[in-house]
Amino acid sequence: MSTEAIARELFTALTGREPDGVWSAPGRVNLIGEHTDYNEGFVLPFAIPHRTVAAVGIREDDRVRVTSTFAEEPVEVALTELGELFPTPTGAAPAVPEWAAYPLGVAWAMQEAGATGVGADVAIASDVPVGAGLSSSAAIEGATASALNDLWAAGLDRTALARIGRRAENEAVGAPTGIMDQMATMIGGVDTAIFLDCRSLEAQQVPLAVAEAGLAILVIDTRVKHAHSTGGYRERRDACERGAAIMGASSLRDVSVDDLPRAAELMDDVTFRRVRHVVTENQRVLDTVAVLRADGPRAIGDLLVASHTSMRDDFEISVAELDTAVEAALSAGALGARMTGGGFGGAAIALIEADATEAVSAAVNDAFAAAEFEAPLLFTVTPAAGARRDA
Ligand code: ADP
Ligand code: MG
Repeated sequence: MSTEAIARELFTALTGREPDGVWSAPGRVNLIGEHTDYNEGFVLPFAIPHRTVAAVGIREDDRVRVTSTFAEEPVEVALTELGELFPTPTGAAPAVPEWAAYPLGVAWAMQEAGATGVGADVAIASDVPVGAGLSSSAAIEGATASALNDLWAAGLDRTALARIGRRAENEAVGAPTGIMDQMATMIGGVDTAIFLDCRSLEAQQVPLAVAEAGLAILVIDTRVKHAHSTGGYRERRDACERGAAIMGASSLRDVSVDDLPRAAELMDDVTFRRVRHVVTENQRVLDTVAVLRADGPRAIGDLLVASHTSMRDDFEISVAELDTAVEAALSAGALGARMTGGGFGGAAIALIEADATEAVSAAVNDAFAAAEFEAPLLFTVTPAAGARRDA
């Protein structure tokens, strides 16, 4: 059954009627640019074919009721009560089951942005792997925000909806993430990567016609669950802030590769390596955009590998499973490979010849078996459409 059919069935089971519409938003893969978003730098994600679907119907009253294939039971709140639930105090758990803080947080953030309307029933289904670094969180936010924007005739543009998704994730769920995922899910497109300046939020579409070049992007989900709430993510953010302050900059965006020798003199080794990752990663995003435009996807492999090395050695956010995935893919002939997402688990990507998908997948599986890791989940993706109304 399609994800849309599952969402429709869930809606009907909840309400006894058909939804007024169906909206969906994709997960995303970050091609390059990791931990640069909260440093006001550059990222280059693309939307993937896996999507989260929201089947939604408006109600006569002012209550919002959400359910998901994940949920044990629906959660229902009056629109006027959302302001009492959110923002969630720092460090506390949301006042609703965590999954429900995503869609209800979106409804709250929409109201905070001045949009409102009648109540709604929202039924959610998804084929985006959860907690794999493919941003199932932005997908649920994007699908819900798109639906409410249309049903409430709020007229918010895609960037505004991305900000609303981020606000829900930061303040309702309590996950201190940047804007990249929400922008990718809102403005991604077929055969397109999103070159995003996380300072200005200016986004450019960059051609990424992978299949046309005879290539594929293999996602290797290690099934090692990452969690933004654990200390590692926070520690990296703090190190970046510290490094920027030492350099007299408001953010690492304003530190360039040429500044690194001076940074090395001013900082302790750990802070310096955190800074070096972010500064060189920003440059690698710029280089990748230039190479994609000039020579196409076949030419970006070395940049992907350099990004992985920097995350492994300087930022220290990789894990053994991710390194194994990258090394095995490269040994089996991948043009490039790197971990993607926040790190400490999640997925890696490999840029491969399309006709080598089976061979590379087998090599990765063998390497995982040899290391006695749980078998990874392997699938290929191509850049796909962003959030939209489906019906
Ligand atoms: P990622 O975005 O990498 O998948 P996150 O931890 O950021 O990982 O987000 C995953 C969380 O988002 C889930 O634990 C759940 O709370 C929520 N979520 C994602 N998809 C759904 C869904 N289809 N239904 C309900 N909750 C979802
Ligand atoms: Mg997420």
